[in-house]
Amino acid sequence: MAIPHIIQLLPDNLANQIAAGEVVQRPASVVKELLENAVDAGATRIDLLIKEAGKTLIQVTDNGSGMSARDARMAFERHATSKIKQESDLFNIRTLGFRGEALASIAAVAQVRVRTRLHSEELGTEIEIEANEVKKQEATVCPVGTTFLVKNLFYNVPARRNFLKSVPVETRHILQEFTRVALARPDVSFSLVHNETEVYELPASTQEARFIALAGLDLQGKLVSLEEETGYVSFHGFIARPDVNRKYRGEQYFFVNDRFIRSPFLHHAVAAAYQDFLPKETHPVYCIFLNIDPVHVDINIHPTKTEVKFDDEHTLYVLLQSLVKKGLASFHEAPSFPLDASPVNRAIYESQPQRREEQSGDTVGNWRKAPTSGSSNSISRAGWEKLYETPVSSPKDRTVTIDKGWTSPEETWLVQFSPGYILTKRGERIYIIDQQRAHQRILFERFIASLRAKPLACQQLLFPQTLNVSLTDQMALMEAEKTLQHLGFEVREIGPGAVIIHGLPPEIPASNAADILREIISDMHHTGTSDQARDKVAESIARAVAMRSAVGHQQRIPHAEAQSIASDLFRCDNPASAPNGKPTYRMIDPVELEDYFR
Ligand code: ADP
Ligand code: MG
Repeated sequence: MAIPHIIQLLPDNLANQIAAGEVVQRPASVVKELLENAVDAGATRIDLLIKEAGKTLIQVTDNGSGMSARDARMAFERHATSKIKQESDLFNIRTLGFRGEALASIAAVAQVRVRTRLHSEELGTEIEIEANEVKKQEATVCPVGTTFLVKNLFYNVPARRNFLKSVPVETRHILQEFTRVALARPDVSFSLVHNETEVYELPASTQEARFIALAGLDLQGKLVSLEEETGYVSFHGFIARPDVNRKYRGEQYFFVNDRFIRSPFLHHAVAAAYQDFLPKETHPVYCIFLNIDPVHVDINIHPTKTEVKFDDEHTLYVLLQSLVKKGLASFHEAPSFPLDASPVNRAIYESQPQRREEQSGDTVGNWRKAPTSGSSNSISRAGWEKLYETPVSSPKDRTVTIDKGWTSPEETWLVQFSPGYILTKRGERIYIIDQQRAHQRILFERFIASLRAKPLACQQLLFPQTLNVSLTDQMALMEAEKTLQHLGFEVREIGPGAVIIHGLPPEIPASNAADILREIISDMHHTGTSDQARDKVAESIARAVAMRSAVGHQQRIPHAEAQSIASDLFRCDNPASAPNGKPTYRMIDPVELEDYFR
């Protein structure tokens, strides 16, 4: 008797329909895929035409490469792509598509017609396909490039068709996809026509003009451009001045290698930088491009490819946040304190605590009392001030020792130049020190030493602060509750996605609490939260406070302070890098010089 085998391969059209469930959620998904294909085909002009929010018609015309008759047919096969040939290509993706699923999926749930012609051919090809079945294929006269028509989406999947939302809602989704593609490619001209009405006509333009055309004309003259390049990543783009008032979270865009992505942690870096500048309930506006070697990014983790994974999120976070801060500081007018002075910095440098308007009289009282309260296990305000004191040279001072060994005292010198850098000599070597990073390193090591020595005091807040966090962040915080207590934080849950800060170590001004806690959370995602990780959390706190408290990069500092930064730096355990891993100095060796001049 035959054994009843029951497993079979799915027929192609069924497999495609199932795949379509992931790729094609609504008309906007079709728009996205077709626009991306046109961009990948090298088009310089792309026209999108839709009817009834794409429910009856989505048409995309491009003047790109076009396809041969054979390729036009192949394009509808599942896993058919011209963008990947071998495994190694997967780690070097420069195109928007690469899965070879979109057209097969779309053709499984709609009626599709394509007309396409290669530059080199006189005649083009026309193909009609329905539920993955080719209805017609013939040679035709048509312009160079490709036109896709997608009609009656989900005509054969009534359940999904019925689930489509109203025309305004579906149109909004389409606009969103159109905007994301058009923003990334200002060099390509785009148009959008809906029910015979022209919605957009976007000529090729600059990045700034394209962003303003799509995100709102009120942004004219209100954008600050960002630019930063490191070996790992380069950033460019725009942020809006905080006086651009947006009450909804719309105009926020990240692109990685010209692909729109969602990234809560990058958003967080930007939002945190804006925090001191933006009124409550308003949202920052930004459009930021990251260029990064594809080997550092995994864009393969999500079928619609809007979520990606980076191999070094922490570095990106830190870089982006400081870049946005710099951008915001660049137009912030007439500051009464140095531009990059954070609230922590202000609290420490300001001799009159009562000038801290955000603190009520009582809190100020506490601040004043802190140094004399006799609490043996807290770093008092005076303790903090010590962190900034110019140290007297001690026998431990290696600078002195080395200098004595190699040079006479007259030969020891130090110059501040090009605000931000300190040029000095130690022994036979010349050092160019980045004042801000050096100061961050010094504060970090001092603070961490005090943190490890004993539990910190917790100072109750007069006005406990509520902080909205994601559920994952909340879980991380609560797991680390004990550790945080040891470090002087009292944080409790008050509901899903909300925690309340009741107390802080006295070193952190209340106005900075939320910010620092968010930095700690983001660090905890990298270090874990267990009690054994206490040192790590202590490190996070020390890092957050040090990064925010150090002198600014462009800040002019007295010569004596530059001197103490230079000498204190070389007494650190790790003088060569800031707490975020970036180098603190560049050293020039005589050997190097000899090589150079030879
Ligand atoms: P993918 O974009 O992931 O490769 P698609 O199913 O979207 O997969 O497209 C399959 C193939 O069809 C592409 O790799 C490309 O070679 C070709 N193609 C699709 N759209 C166009 C177009 N507008 N112009 C030229 N070729 C296209
Ligand atoms: Mg594609």
